[in-house]
Amino acid sequence: MNKVTNDIYHTRVSHGVALAWVNSYSAVVVKTSDATMLFDPVGMEVPADSPLDLIVVSHGHSDHWEPKLVARIQASTGATVAAPPALAERLRVGGTESPLAPLLERGGTRHSDVGSIGASTFQGQNPPFDIVSMVPGEEIPIGGTTLTALRCDHAAVEPLAFQVHSPDGVTVYLPGDTTPFPEMGHLPHIYSAETLHKQDSAETFHNHSHESGVDVLCWMGTALTDGAEIAKLVQPKAFLGYAIAPPAAGERAYGILTRLTPDIPFQALDRRQVFLWPGY
Ligand SMILES: [Zn+2]
Repeated sequence: MNKVTNDIYHTRVSHGVALAWVNSYSAVVVKTSDATMLFDPVGMEVPADSPLDLIVVSHGHSDHWEPKLVARIQASTGATVAAPPALAERLRVGGTESPLAPLLERGGTRHSDVGSIGASTFQGQNPPFDIVSMVPGEEIPIGGTTLTALRCDHAAVEPLAFQVHSPDGVTVYLPGDTTPFPEMGHLPHIYSAETLHKQDSAETFHNHSHESGVDVLCWMGTALTDGAEIAKLVQPKAFLGYAIAPPAAGERAYGILTRLTPDIPFQALDRRQVFLWPGY
């Protein structure tokens, strides 16, 4: 079902999604047929000539947020940065420590205009801006792919979780560092901007509320009981996490997860292993 390669950026995705864990923390690349997104890059590099549309930051903890690296990847790839408002503002404003000074110079005054525009303003067009702030419920479309920012219950400033929806209807849930909460069981519908804004939201919710709407749960957290609880709430078709080292610790952890969620097989990704869903 899954192939192992080591270049997620150049993996050809004809349908569904490709996904890889790419650092020693929780950085993940999600690729669809028309978009490539890198989440929470820290302590890593993006190889030269890698196509990248979005760099996405979930919150400001140091294992998720390295502003100088974000600036460097942005400069080398031309990707748009999507982040919670305070972090986006920090990237825009810079200051003496300005991690994004080159961006500000290149973009001129354009960035001050972007500051007041929510991500959902970009409905139906590719984001033309370097830095976009997101709050839960807002979406960024890239071609036929949609990134949605979601509620995240975590002790950080404006933390976000995310959902990626591919053009052919595959949904990946990236809960980030959130603890579980019951409403997760209604993903992907209850937190979509469509649900928030359309008048028929109740009907939409009702029609879908008994389906398992999430195909792939990409859980990069550390508390196993939280991961298991999230999986039970979300009922994904695929439950992914990162390989824990040393192997004996990994075996123990996966044993615990398997006992907690016997009906949802857990798959640990090796670093840079490319996971494809659905299988090719
Ligand atoms: Zn955190």
